[in-house]
Amino acid sequence: MIDLSNSNIYQQTISEPIIVKGIGLHSGVNTIMKLLPADIDYGIKFIRKDINDYNIVDALWSNVTNTKLSTTISNKFGISISTIEHLMSALSGLHIDNLKIEIDGPEVPIMDGSSKEFVDLIDKIPIKSLNKKRKIIKIKKELKIIDNESSVQLKPNEQFAIDFEIDFPSQVISKQSCQLQLINGNYKTDIASARTFGFEKDVDMLRSNGLALGGSLQNAVVVGDHKILNKEGLRFKDEFVRHKILDSIGDLYLAGAPIQGYFYGNKSGHRLNNLLLKSLFSDYNNFEYI
Ligand SMILES: [Zn+2]
Repeated sequence: MIDLSNSNIYQQTISEPIIVKGIGLHSGVNTIMKLLPADIDYGIKFIRKDINDYNIVDALWSNVTNTKLSTTISNKFGISISTIEHLMSALSGLHIDNLKIEIDGPEVPIMDGSSKEFVDLIDKIPIKSLNKKRKIIKIKKELKIIDNESSVQLKPNEQFAIDFEIDFPSQVISKQSCQLQLINGNYKTDIASARTFGFEKDVDMLRSNGLALGGSLQNAVVVGDHKILNKEGLRFKDEFVRHKILDSIGDLYLAGAPIQGYFYGNKSGHRLNNLLLKSLFSDYNNFEYI
């Protein structure tokens, strides 16, 4: 994803280490994560510090191994890191190209369920510009993945634009749509604070399957039959669809570079986002690096 209004065309990293602590949404495991500056063309890599060997996992679409409720990446030795999408979304939104992420457990902390805390922590320190231009993936052909009622699409476009629609069988959410262009840093104001969500009726089933073990009203919007259970209410009237955009921006950053084009998602999620990138990279005529 790219905010084309940003005049900085050089690669960026952070200027000093950032330490983040928190619980994993699904594993319920508490981890400490260190975000560390990285050099030109390093990309985004996770390093599992609780494992001694073969512990580096590149944040790339080709390493995605699980997309059930969150995005998990693994290296060829089976070492994995899960729920990476909100951190990846923040890195995309803030134009961080190179970053080393050390973590002492299997899952990125969920924080408040959005990418706001990652954005705030990175925003507190200066961003460091590196002496090489960013590579950008320019979409040249229209691509579409359809799965029953869900679909995702990428199209050539001079701006980066995103368009998302959801329709849940819940009177609290029902139909929502949101269109926006990433310009003038609006990721921070319009997307970053939209939280993940789940349904009260699913909690027991998820927990008995070893999922959502770290979930609470502190890190997710919980949707009941007639209202949300969070006393503080919603952060946006359409927070649900905004969170789907947040997720998609994170998943698409696994392309390894920002994408210039138009993205449309309809009732889609992590799995279709990954299939879209697989389709994109299956044919060199689909895109060019600029
Ligand atoms: Zn999410």
